[in-house]
Amino acid sequence: MSEDLILCPTCETENDALNQTCVSCGQSLIIVCPRCNTVNALTAEQCFACGQHFDTLGQIMARHEIRQSDRFTRQAVGAIEIQQTEKAHTQARSDQLWEKERKRQAALIVQKREQQKQEKQLIIGAVVVAIVVIVIVLIIAATR
Ligand SMILES: [Zn+2]
Ligand SMILES: [Zn+2]
Repeated sequence: MSEDLILCPTCETENDALNQTCVSCGQSLIIVCPRCNTVNALTAEQCFACGQHFDTLGQIMARHEIRQSDRFTRQAVGAIEIQQTEKAHTQARSDQLWEKERKRQAALIVQKREQQKQEKQLIIGAVVVAIVVIVIVLIIAATR
């Protein structure tokens, strides 16, 4: 049996590991964690989400629950997908915010540099004007 196949515990049909139910008899091939409702592979010894150990009783209960309400399983899977989508969205949002903030910071630095440059030019301009005025005054004074 390859890693990609899972053996149905009821009819021993080989199923794709991604199948949630046996293609032959419809037996559930997943375990819904009794603690956090996360869907785990039938071969899992403990919940990958919360670490809950699946003892025999827990597994039987979980399987029973799945068989009783397939809709519940689909809801659980749906909830996980929504959670993961939301998580991805949150990540994307925070990435976007971070990107925005970085751009804002970069723009601020550029703005600051520009301001400093302008201030420097203003000071240089003022000094040049002052020197020119002094020179003119001196020339006027000398020609009198
Ligand atoms: Zn089966
Ligand atoms: Zn769990």
